[in-house]
Amino acid sequence: MKQVTVISGKGGTGKTSFVAAFANLSGASVVADCDVDAANLHLILGPVAQRAEPEAFKSGYGAVLDPDRCRGCGQCARACRFGALRIDERGKAGLNPLLCEGCGVCVDVCPRNALTLVEKTAGELFVSETRFGPLVHGRLGIGQSASGKLVAQVRARARELAGDEGRQLILVDGSPGLGCPVIASLSGVDAAVIVSEPTVAGLHDLERVLRLCSHFGVKPFVVVNKWDLNPEMAERLEKVGRSHGAEVLGRVGFTRVFTEAMIHGRTVVEYAPESAVASELRAVWQKLAEAVQV
Ligand code: SF4
Ligand code: SF4
Repeated sequence: MKQVTVISGKGGTGKTSFVAAFANLSGASVVADCDVDAANLHLILGPVAQRAEPEAFKSGYGAVLDPDRCRGCGQCARACRFGALRIDERGKAGLNPLLCEGCGVCVDVCPRNALTLVEKTAGELFVSETRFGPLVHGRLGIGQSASGKLVAQVRARARELAGDEGRQLILVDGSPGLGCPVIASLSGVDAAVIVSEPTVAGLHDLERVLRLCSHFGVKPFVVVNKWDLNPEMAERLEKVGRSHGAEVLGRVGFTRVFTEAMIHGRTVVEYAPESAVASELRAVWQKLAEAVQV
């Protein structure tokens, strides 16, 4: 089983459209949407059914208040360093769960045992059926920050599915940026496809992502999207990629077909199979499939 993560260093490079096209072209992959802060691959892949009930994603702890036990002494509010507890106009403690960091101090100081610490549900994990095979995706709850942990859970579920169904490829839509969720998307994969844009910021992002790949020992591949907006910079990106040991998979020109396909809930290769961009994506996929042997 091979695992390939598509990353970009930042959002808006077309990364998700690339993953959707690869899922379409590979025909037999499990897709893991690890952009858990803003998962959107399902908008293109259009899940037709949930394979099972959503799984709760547990992470960290939070305080729970039993108002019937509270006598309004205010000790918890004075002790909470995160401003999550206040004494309200009725003289009772009120808890704002979005501010609670789960430190447990209030539980220790409450003389009435009105506060307890429980494991928090920080999001949900879904396994859906799409026209290209299973899609595993997560949704982080509002104000929750354990996205790296949720990414790890999404990937673990994708591996389990691929093993059960004998699928040879896991395609991972990585998170934008360089933080914890990206590291969780990259660790242990066979290859990283970096979708880059020919801008100064794109060059900077590419260098940072290449360093990240090198740190984690992941073989990098580079694709320049919208290359024709700045051909000199596109060349520079490819040169920088090669100097870091990356293989250049190809270039894709600027086109509105990406947006139109997304609006219609289709991959670019489905929506406009005869277009130049569809042939460019097929060529990129061909090269990648040969390189990772899938
Ligand atoms: S667990 Fe900590 S952060 Fe949460 S309400 Fe209690 S004291 Fe405040
Ligand atoms: S410490 Fe306990 S009893 Fe006192 S205000 Fe807080 S919850 Fe109520």
